[in-house]
Amino acid sequence: MANPVPTKERTKLPRQHMPEQQPEKRRQNFTEVNLGFDFNIAKQEALRCLECANPKCVSGCPVGVKIKDFISLILDGDYLAAASKIREDDVLPAITGRVCPQEDQCEGSCIMGKKFGSVGIGFLERFVADFERESGKIGLPPIAPSTGKKVAIVGSGPAGLSAAGDLVQRGHAVTVFEALHEIGGVLVYGIPEFRLPKAIVRQEVENMKKMGVEFQTDVVVGKTVTVDELLNEEGYSAILVATGAGLPQFLGVPGEDLCGVYSSNEFLTRVNLMKAYRFPEYDEPIYDCRGKNVAVVGGGNTAMDSIRSALRLGAKNAYVIYRRSEAEMPARAEEVKHAREEGIQFLLLNNPVEFLGDEKGWLRAARCIKMELGPADESGRRRPVPIKGSEYELPLDVAIIAVGTSSNPLVQSTTPDIKTRKGGYIVTDETTLKTSKRGVFGAGDIVTGAATVILAMGTGRKAAKAIDEYLKTGAW
Ligand SMILES: Cc1cc2nc3c(=O)[nH]c(=O)nc-3n(C[C@H](O)[C@H](O)[C@H](O)COP(=O)(O)OP(=O)(O)OC[C@H]3O[C@@H](n4cnc5c(N)ncnc54)[C@H](O)[C@@H]3O)c2cc1C
Repeated sequence: MANPVPTKERTKLPRQHMPEQQPEKRRQNFTEVNLGFDFNIAKQEALRCLECANPKCVSGCPVGVKIKDFISLILDGDYLAAASKIREDDVLPAITGRVCPQEDQCEGSCIMGKKFGSVGIGFLERFVADFERESGKIGLPPIAPSTGKKVAIVGSGPAGLSAAGDLVQRGHAVTVFEALHEIGGVLVYGIPEFRLPKAIVRQEVENMKKMGVEFQTDVVVGKTVTVDELLNEEGYSAILVATGAGLPQFLGVPGEDLCGVYSSNEFLTRVNLMKAYRFPEYDEPIYDCRGKNVAVVGGGNTAMDSIRSALRLGAKNAYVIYRRSEAEMPARAEEVKHAREEGIQFLLLNNPVEFLGDEKGWLRAARCIKMELGPADESGRRRPVPIKGSEYELPLDVAIIAVGTSSNPLVQSTTPDIKTRKGGYIVTDETTLKTSKRGVFGAGDIVTGAATVILAMGTGRKAAKAIDEYLKTGAW
């Protein structure tokens, strides 16, 4: 159906709001904050699309989802076809519809953006993906006849999963080896239930199993089995290393070893993956945050996820300590908005210089200093500069450090002929994602450094294409 609203009139249609759980209610539970569009809201939002001849949203999407086409299918009321259209380029639409930083990508490039508010592309993507899942009619793609070749994928995050989906469709036997007991990487151990329900990730994994992908959990490649053993003894013809960038970084200030100071990875893994939030049903130990002062240090998605989890665990005061201003915060805009609404207190232009403990070695406070912004640094962002004499003590029971991560090192250290660069990230060819070792490819954060779900998926797909070529031709 052609859009019945004349193009000029579409700019007058207001952007539709995502229905949400109210802040007072949701700060006490771990269920999803965003409730999703209904048919009517989805249609109203879809009507706003200008159907540009040269859609900037598509070039703004790292994997080039055909946004104009899927929105047009929503107007036709053919939601399953809309979901299939997205799946041509993005195999995990219910996930990316929820977690992509749309304001920097598709929606950031939408012509409607500046003056009228961009089209809610992420919300529409989520709508059709949820419709498809709830209908039980997810169209599984056809699988090519068996090639007799075996591929091993190390790591089950978005990079590994998207590569697995593509390779199994091409007729290869794919096994995904995952160190943890659940499949999904950051999607299950990092991003909390209130942003991305685990059931959605599990459903995608189930679809892949139906397509023939084999998953082996609790296998730490580099310890349980090495890359060389997989290649030389286990009969795998190609290996994709998609191990992510999950190694926590710290501030390097005194007192970071006190009890009560966590890395964000440990905190989120205990709360979300090990389900500490469902105590006593699950007895994973974690500091009891009820009535306590909790702070996260950092300004990215990980920081927002950590502090919003702490709030839901009962923190009395929940702070974000960030050394720059809000304009420089790397977290998705929606997460910052939601955090503020829930009562998270932002200590912007502040930085801890020391953590202070009591006589038993437990955290009691952070010594912080106020900052101001100086000239831009190499990253192009204004450099935070400490203000002399502005130090103060912030009483704290729990501090969570979320100032970035670096490469997971195990595979590289046990496979020295895989070339790495600064930070231990794997060096690959830009187009084929081949590493320096024959038969071994890399994808996701372990190649790019900590990035986004959609970028990890994009590199996974690129690697799958190159692996398929290699298996067919044998040429390296
Ligand atoms: C808390 C948090 C919130 C985030 N929020 C967002 C967001 O809202 N939007 C967004 O776009 N991005 C977000 N990101 C970033 C995004 O999740 C990552 O860029 C993405 O998950 C990277 O995918 P990957 O497949 O490369 O690695 P990962 O998702 O890290 O998966 C790697 C997997 O490899 C496994 N592994 C590691 N070593 C081995 C080994 N030796 N053997 C076997 N398995 C191994 C790990 O256990 C893990 O499961 C967030 C990241 C974090 C930490």
